Amino acid sequence: GRYTKQDIIDLVRENDVQFIRLQFSDLFGAMKNVAITARQLEKALDNKCTFDGSSVDGFVRIEESDMYLYPDLDSFLIFPWSSGGRVARLICDVYGQDGMPFEGDPRNILKRVMRECKKMGYKFNVGPECEFFLFHTDEEGQPTTLSHEKAGYFDVAPLDLGESARRDMILNLEEMGFEIEASHHEVAPAQHEIDFKYDNALRTADNILTFKFVVKYIAKRHGLYASFMPKPITGVDGSGMHLNMSLWKDGKNIFADSKNHIGVSDEAFYFMAGVMKHAREMSLITNPLVNSYKRIVPGYEAPVDVTWSPANRSPLIRVPAARGSGTRLEFRSPDPAANPYLALAVSLASGLEGIRGKLTPGKGTSKNQYEMAEGEKKEAGIMMLPRDLKEALDIFENSDFIRKTLGNHIFTKYYEAKKKEWESYQKFVSQWEIDEYLYKI
Ligand code: GLN
Ligand code: MG
Ligand code: MG
Ligand code: MG
Repeated sequence: GRYTKQDIIDLVRENDVQFIRLQFSDLFGAMKNVAITARQLEKALDNKCTFDGSSVDGFVRIEESDMYLYPDLDSFLIFPWSSGGRVARLICDVYGQDGMPFEGDPRNILKRVMRECKKMGYKFNVGPECEFFLFHTDEEGQPTTLSHEKAGYFDVAPLDLGESARRDMILNLEEMGFEIEASHHEVAPAQHEIDFKYDNALRTADNILTFKFVVKYIAKRHGLYASFMPKPITGVDGSGMHLNMSLWKDGKNIFADSKNHIGVSDEAFYFMAGVMKHAREMSLITNPLVNSYKRIVPGYEAPVDVTWSPANRSPLIRVPAARGSGTRLEFRSPDPAANPYLALAVSLASGLEGIRGKLTPGKGTSKNQYEMAEGEKKEAGIMMLPRDLKEALDIFENSDFIRKTLGNHIFTKYYEAKKKEWESYQKFVSQWEIDEYLYKI
């Protein structure tokens, strides 16, 4: 590990840290936290801090509600900003009263799949590309979907009004230990992307949670509102969270193989085939909102079907040009509303199944998938991603693979919550219907 308990106690003292946020993720990837004062630190480091699990979405019933937080010492960091006193954080695993990891803790699920991966001799690394919008707020400080900027892909200031906010985000993230590899204006007005370096899946999931929090916090300091909503505006690109995935053995990326087809190893193709096999079942995890499915439509660089390609950006999985240690699969359907722990857990479990079964992904496509007719796809045996949350729910409900990977607790609670979400949406009469029907009928 990076830190011992004593290291953390010393760091807190030396840096005059007054509050420590003990953080964990709920079922849907929302960051939860309990703040303690520095005086409580030793108790926290001894895994003695509790919280009321019945108040967290999808956790437990009132009868069994005391849960324990076990801090991951390596996740310790001090926030670069201070308001009054310095604040630090520790990301925690959630344990029950019985001293066992809580089956409803998404971090625990990811760890379990990573142990399986390790048993097979691999290490799973992931680099995410999080896209988001920077919007103005109204007089009451409420977020809007308005922006005055008109910049597009890779444009630079002064067109790009979000640029100084973005720069500030990057500086703060770097101070927190993130290695920022690229950042740019995205395709849509007010849309941005900041990419940080890959790490093992657990660290990356932790980083995604932290990243979103920092982006929102800094945006606010610039009078802007940062949103990770998958498709906030009709008619322009939505926001994705592409996952760049690779498997490593003895410090080497085993997805690279210069002697094989397109310079990519058999394992990489097996892994790809596993992800393609289960992509539809995992949609409820990778694309969890009613709104997620408004991004998964032709024409906006988001995938609509289960295909792969060496280059084209319309398929589900792309193999970017980099080879050697940079060889990776870019999984393009996930969006930033996904719970990163669960999204990485189901992706990895699928890929490992592909390796075990030596599954093959079929021929890649160089075609633009948006231009291929539905009939043509059917003939070629190409499967479509679910078209809405309802379809995703139905496929998920029938998936033994997903149930096994997530465990019964999360599988059931997650499904029930998402089903409620769909039912609430389904009953709602939208502006589109009024505009479309009221005057005609
Ligand atoms: N915004 C696109 C998506 O929804 C991706 C665009 C890109 O990164 N080139 O996935
Ligand atoms: Mg990118
Ligand atoms: Mg992008
Ligand atoms: Mg990408």
